[in-house]
Amino acid sequence: MSSPTPAAFGADQQPFAGIASFMRRPVTRDLSGVDVAILGVPFDSGTSYRAGTRFGPRKIREVSPVLWGYNNPLAVEPLEILNVVDYGDVAVVPPSIEATYRAIEATASAILAAGTTLITLGGDHSISLPLLRAHAKKYGPLSLVHFDSHPDTWESEFGPQHPYSHGTPFLNALNEKLIKPENYVQVGLRGPTSGVDDWQVVHDRGVRVITMDEAAQMGLPAIIAAIRETVNGPTYVTLDIDAADPAFAPGTGTPEVGGFTSHQLLQLVRGLKGLNLVGFDIVEVSPPYDHGDITALLAANLAFEFLSLTVRSFLGEKLKFWPKHAKMAEILRVSPRRPDAG
Ligand code: MN
Ligand code: MN
Repeated sequence: MSSPTPAAFGADQQPFAGIASFMRRPVTRDLSGVDVAILGVPFDSGTSYRAGTRFGPRKIREVSPVLWGYNNPLAVEPLEILNVVDYGDVAVVPPSIEATYRAIEATASAILAAGTTLITLGGDHSISLPLLRAHAKKYGPLSLVHFDSHPDTWESEFGPQHPYSHGTPFLNALNEKLIKPENYVQVGLRGPTSGVDDWQVVHDRGVRVITMDEAAQMGLPAIIAAIRETVNGPTYVTLDIDAADPAFAPGTGTPEVGGFTSHQLLQLVRGLKGLNLVGFDIVEVSPPYDHGDITALLAANLAFEFLSLTVRSFLGEKLKFWPKHAKMAEILRVSPRRPDAG
């Protein structure tokens, strides 16, 4: 772990002023000594209903300067510990999901090869498949924590000759053995489907499914316990913002009523602390359908939680009594990095 990167120009200004990279991190493609890269994927051609998530990464960046830096519930100040940069966006190709997939995988692979952890801002959920390809190439088959109101395990939404869309990434990931079904948990499924099979498909593959109704019955501690029991080893986290209720996240492509509150979603994500988390994405934020930026603001806060969890994954329980004292911080900074696998 290296010393933290200085903030971008203008970072001493109030949140409404200056240039908004993610949390005012320097915008750079130089990954030397970088612990975490924020990457945008402004792609929404995998959407089946209403589009607009191509504007997600920019809007999340725009609202992110309100994240002041100290995470009270997790008692960490990620930017004081990690070297974090804003890597900018993948060069997506709106009319070609295949070309976009190649670009995402190449960009993500280059970042991971540099020893940098990736937090990706979508974009629609189709982008998770090439991200999982890049991560599985480095870490082997992954555990997956998937927050969503939809399973995204359909075979195709537009006929068998079109296997890729935002409704299919995780069936493809299972078929490509990028993720381990027994270490894969879906949380928040709800809403009408085209039939009983839509949810049964993943059950039949051995995936742990916690529907929204079950989640409401279980309560947050039991959901968190079930997630932690399911995953094992290097774990990727994918969060579709439509896991939140449309009252809290209206700016999304396929809203489903009856979901988590913002507070519940924050608590669920914090419940992942200490796990071996190797990658994150947050997807389906569609600013054209948002109101007062509440969806983008929730996404920015969730990305900040991911960043805070990354600190926890690096240093584990050593941070339980995180010292504000600079000298102690210096000692913790030179702690060895987390091994790549295990
Ligand atoms: Mn969804
Ligand atoms: Mn989804």
